[in-house]
Amino acid sequence: MSQKKVGFISLGCPKALVDSERILTQLRTDGYDIVPTYDDADIVVVNTCGFIDDAKRESLEAIGEALQENGKVIVTGCMGNEADKIRAIHPGVLSVTGAHAYEEVVSAVHQFVPQSKPHNPLIDLVPPQGIKLTPRHYAYLKISEGCNHRCTFCIIPSLRGDLVSRPIGDVMDEAEKLVKAGVQELLVISQDTSAYGVDLKYRTGFWQGRPMKTNMKELCEGLGNLGVWVRLHYVYPYPHVDDIIPLMADGKILPYLDIPFQHGSPRILKAMKRPAHAENTLERIKKWRSICPDLTLRSTFIVGFPGETEDDFQQLLDFLEEAQIDRAGCFKYSAVDGATANALENHVPEEVKQERFERFMEVQARISAERLQKKIGRTIEVVIDEVDEEGAIGRSHADAPEIDGLVYLNGETELEPGDVVTAKVFQADEHDLWAELANPED
Ligand code: SF4
Repeated sequence: MSQKKVGFISLGCPKALVDSERILTQLRTDGYDIVPTYDDADIVVVNTCGFIDDAKRESLEAIGEALQENGKVIVTGCMGNEADKIRAIHPGVLSVTGAHAYEEVVSAVHQFVPQSKPHNPLIDLVPPQGIKLTPRHYAYLKISEGCNHRCTFCIIPSLRGDLVSRPIGDVMDEAEKLVKAGVQELLVISQDTSAYGVDLKYRTGFWQGRPMKTNMKELCEGLGNLGVWVRLHYVYPYPHVDDIIPLMADGKILPYLDIPFQHGSPRILKAMKRPAHAENTLERIKKWRSICPDLTLRSTFIVGFPGETEDDFQQLLDFLEEAQIDRAGCFKYSAVDGATANALENHVPEEVKQERFERFMEVQARISAERLQKKIGRTIEVVIDEVDEEGAIGRSHADAPEIDGLVYLNGETELEPGDVVTAKVFQADEHDLWAELANPED
């Protein structure tokens, strides 16, 4: 009897990708085959994104295409929280569930395309690390769902609810499985990594019989002992983040922090209701860098938030200069349906937003270029992502996949994705480095 086949479309951010991976793993465990084309599939699952209007449009288009090409469609993910809207446009969808509804998605697949033979987990082999959509040598590790903050420009808490931390033993088990399956780099994600365990009152959990507290520091120590690169995303500058910096200085986890600061003006940060907006962030960054001079800071910022004056914007540029942010993304503020910031006064005209965006990018490009120039002559570790006929392309400790810079190793065609090598930097531009493999005595 033939195996039932599921097509899968995964849209949205790395967090949605982790959801997709979990659903795929379960479906494979249950004996379904995952196929890449509409024609071969008995049913199609669309994991949607509902973060901004463009993402919603893309999600609705993907659902429409799947209906037209295949006809049997299950919808899940962030936009699934707006089931009425989806059903009004696409009445033919079979089932709609919201974010991280793994069990419901899997049971809907069972309901609409029942297996003709029972799955035998001993015969139908699933790779022990699950099915990953990311390249084999790095993986996202989601440590919690939801968020306790209420930033005025964001609707994630209303989509995903308050913070729910995963038990530390489960997170460590998943991380260990990934490492055993060949993952070289774990990317820790959540909506607020520094809040890990708050909802569980930092209770003591267990991993491999040993007690571990459900907090960021013990998690980082545990992950740091697995012997792979560990990179932290979505951290806020709370005082307890200070405890993590020595682990970075000791090489236990990567000296890298992704902190979405969003602004540098205390007045705007307050209007945004940002976590840790009252902290003296510049002082904190100085202290971190004195303990761990190699620390890379990546961040995102919003320009043109309602009420932002030229003076506020200048404070943002001053913050960039003083904090010496290594990597930064910039977004022009745009209203999101349902966000409380929409009701704020003094919205900034589009042309002013554009002008501020350009000034921001200019300052940031200069800071980034100056900081990368200082790396010339240094020997760094590089993980290889891709190899083609011209050479190998990888990333250093300072570069997260997809969002940061690259390290080019021209002519190194013998390397393989996932290799970790040492290389000497000889050239840099605004974003990327060029290096050559280092001699062992370097
Ligand atoms: S911290 Fe703020 S921006 Fe981030 S998910 Fe929570 S509410 Fe949204």
